[in-house]
Order: sequence, then C-alpha cells, then structure tokens
Amino acid sequence: MENNQSVDEVNVSDGGYGVKESSRDQREALPGEPKCVICGRYGEYICDVTDDDICSLECKQTLLCRVANKGMRVTPVPPQRLPATDECYYVRESDNSSGYQDYSSDQNELVRRKLDINVKGDAVPAPILSFSSCNLPQRLLQNIEAAGYGMPTPVQMQAIPAALIGKSLLVSADTGSGKTASFLVPLISHCANFRLKHLSKLKKPLAMVLTPTRELCIQVEEQAKLLGKGLPFKTALVVGGDAMAGQIYRIQQGVELIVGTPGRLIDLLVKHDIELDDIMMFVLDEVDCMLQRGFRDQVMQIFRGLLQPQILMFSATISQEVEKMVSSLAKDIVFVSVGKANRPNKAVKQVPIWVDSKKKKQKLFEILMSKQHFMPPAVVYVSSRLGADLLSNAITVTTGIKSLSIHGEKPMKERREIMQSFLVGEVPVIVATGVLGRGVDLLGVRQVIIFDMPNSTKEYVHQIGRASRMGEDGTAIVFVNEENKNLFPELVEILKSSGSAVPRELINSRYTVGSFGKGYKKRKHGS
Ligand code: AMP
Repeated sequence: MENNQSVDEVNVSDGGYGVKESSRDQREALPGEPKCVICGRYGEYICDVTDDDICSLECKQTLLCRVANKGMRVTPVPPQRLPATDECYYVRESDNSSGYQDYSSDQNELVRRKLDINVKGDAVPAPILSFSSCNLPQRLLQNIEAAGYGMPTPVQMQAIPAALIGKSLLVSADTGSGKTASFLVPLISHCANFRLKHLSKLKKPLAMVLTPTRELCIQVEEQAKLLGKGLPFKTALVVGGDAMAGQIYRIQQGVELIVGTPGRLIDLLVKHDIELDDIMMFVLDEVDCMLQRGFRDQVMQIFRGLLQPQILMFSATISQEVEKMVSSLAKDIVFVSVGKANRPNKAVKQVPIWVDSKKKKQKLFEILMSKQHFMPPAVVYVSSRLGADLLSNAITVTTGIKSLSIHGEKPMKERREIMQSFLVGEVPVIVATGVLGRGVDLLGVRQVIIFDMPNSTKEYVHQIGRASRMGEDGTAIVFVNEENKNLFPELVEILKSSGSAVPRELINSRYTVGSFGKGYKKRKHGS
C-alpha cells in the first residue's frame, strides 16, 4: 500500500482489505516515517477530514472525536501511546509523584470495560496505558522496548501497577496474553531498586518464580534475562536434568531471582543452606496446577520457609477451589481476570472431529498430507510418552514429514535441542505430552492437533491455546470420540460459546444430552 493515502480512499479502493482497523494492528514508525497523531505508530494514512497522519480506522475515529469536542487540530504525537480503545483520552506524561495516570475513576472503569479487565479487591490502582507511566527503571524501559513490547497488553495494564505497589495478586488471563511479563516487569523493577538502595556484598535471592515444568522455567528465565539486561539482576535456573552443583554455585555467587520447579528446588534447599529471608516476591505461574495434589505440598513447604512475601499467582484457568485456597496465603489479595476465565483463546479456531480411536492415526496422516489442512509448524498432543514416540515415528515413516516427540522422559538437553529445531523450522511437527501444554511459548505454532483428549477441559484450554500467541490466528483440530464422554457436557459448552461447529455425534450423545436434560429440568423447576 502506498504511503499516506486517505483511510477512506484505501478503504474504498481495495474493499477495505488491508486497512488497519485498530492501532494495535499497526506497526511502529521507523525513523523518518510519518507518525499517527493519536498513537505515534506508523502513519500509513491521511485523515480525509483533518489532513493529519493516522495509523488506523480506530485512531481516525478518536481524532474526529477530539476535533468535534475541541474544534481544533490535534498536536502531533503525544509522548506516550494510546491503548487500543477508541476513547478520547490524551495519554500524557504523568505529572503526579506516583507516576501513574491520574484519570478519573470513570475513565479507569471505561478502560477496564473496553478491555474486558475485571478486578476485585481493595485499593486497586488504575490500569496503566503505557510502560513509561509507572516509574520503572530507565534501563528496564529500554529492555521492554527492545523486546518489541510497544504497549502493555490488557493483563499487563492491570497486573503491573498493582504488583508495583506491593499487592498480592491472583490473575487469570488467556494463554499467550503476556502474563509472564506481567510478573517479570514489577519483579525486575523491585529487585533492581532494592539492590541500588542496599549496597551489600552478600546478595541473597530476592524473588522466586515456580512453574510446573522445566520448559516453562527455561522460558521464564530467558525472558527475565532479556528484560533484566544491564540491571543489577541475575537469575538462577533450578530444574531437574541440569547439574545441581552448577545451580547451587550460581546462587551462592549472588542472584536476584530463582526460577525453578518445586521438586528440584526443595531438593536443593534441603541439601544446601540457602538463605531465603530476603525473598520479597513469590510467583506461582500456572497456579491452578501448582496448588493441585502432587505439587501443593512442595509449594507450601517452600512458601513456609519465606517471610510473608508478596505473592503473584497466574493462570489461564482458575478454579473456585484455587481462589479459596489462595486466600489463606496472603492478605488483601487483588483478583484480576482478563477476558472470560477458563475460556479458550478467541484467536484459536477449534475444529472438533469425531473419530473412532482405531481411525485416529489414519485421520492424522490425512490432515498432515493435505495441503489445505496442514498448517505447519504444528504440535500434536497425545496422552502417553510411549504414544508420543510411536506416533512421531509413524508420522515420519508414513507421510515423510519430519516429526519428533517431546516428553518428560527425554533428557533435558535433548528436549532443548528438539524445541530449537522445531522453532527454527527444521522439524515441522512435534508430538508432545502435556509437558508442552502449559504456558510454553511455542512461537510461530499455527496448528495444534489434539490426538488424545486430555483429562480435563482446563487442560484442553491450555493445549489449544498453544496455537495462538498474542492474538494471532491459529487452528486447533480436536479428535473426539465416545472415550472422552466425561468431558462432553463441558466441551460442548466451550465449543458452542466460541462459535465452533459441534459434531453431530457429540451433540446427540446420551452423555451430552443427558447432562443438558438435567440442567434444563432444574432451571424449569427453579423458575
Ligand atoms: P506469555 O503470555 O507471557 O506467554 O506471552 C506471550 C508472548 O507475548 C511472548 O512471546 C511475549 O514475549 C510476548 N509479549 C508479552 N508482552 C508483550 C507486549 N506488551 N507486547 C508485545 N508482545 C508481548
């Protein structure tokens, strides 16, 4: 598209195709390029009414709204960016000492409503509209910018300011919505500020992040390193599969953050004398999983060794049971949810297919060999480790497409190498067990195929969420049959609520019909 056309001109000439709807869809302006007068992104179009540079239909609307209100032309490029709302706010450098935007509570509510942010709790601070509005260390801001985070995502808008003022949080948001940075940004800010104020030689850890899988820990640590670059902020990764000696040495040298899985961390804490009394922030990623039997005792054992730190808890799925449980961990917890909790990522198109177990392999091969249906890179989810190995071999032999398996039994080094070859595109299909289901950021994955349904719809939501990061479109093909009957009622509800077609067999199954029948009767009686 030619630079600087009128929005409407472009709209008409190419039938609207290619015109950016929202400022979020627009890229950053490169040096020397025109900037949108509203948000500062690339000013791809010219507003036909005011002649101002504009990036999208959304900003055009905001511009016209301002002009109508003020009867004047707008001063170009405010220093901070407007979020993807179409309200007539000026985003200005804050002049108050707290550094937060001082909009009226009505405006804050409006922002929350627009972005589907729900909060519960006392003295919850206003959502931030830009990273630069909350007094973060300058170097951290540069790192955020360098990471390509132009503006905070909705979960970051609310979670970051709340965490920065010391609130403990329970946050539920879609997979891929930027949750990791929601806790890393305040965590790095606290750690760096602490070290600058307390110049001691003995550097005990200041924060701890626990996640359920090694892969997720690696990913969190990598992101932490990236965002903490150049700051007094060092990290240690404490996961099984890597030598403990190296991990303990690193901690003893002085680190700010420990990222680990609960089992290995306890192992390390039991065998070595690590002082945890400076830990001021404790993060539980995938909290619903972390507080389930299996992990709960280990997590609690670690938590009890700390001196009442601020707790930040995150997950895409949060049950009522978890909500109740966390209330005993900290006082005055702020609850934040973005979008509808326990609902699948809207950007993922779910395609459920009814397939008998015996025919699943054949169906999978058909999909992988179909130009129309196969969209690599793809992840195939299965329920067992052996199943993953066998299926990945079968895929390679039958279809000629290179496929590898990844699961908890493979050594850490091998898992890393497989992930790398997948991410660089050498291996288009990975067959995985649940180890990759949670939170692991499979950048670039376009398709998820659920070969074996997981045991719960929560897990299902996590797995299909891998098909989209940051709202990019993806597809989840889901094999379902009578063996998954215990999930039918919830699955049908999830599919219906996200507008997906539901297979006839699934709708008509007595396990589905029976359950809806019961609900229908109840409501009738109650009304
Ligand atoms: P997460 O939900 O934390 O797994 O993040 C999903 C992806 O979004 C990761 O690749 C992040 O690097 C990226 N991301 C996080 N925050 C932002 C942001 N504010 N702007 C753009 N990308 C982001």
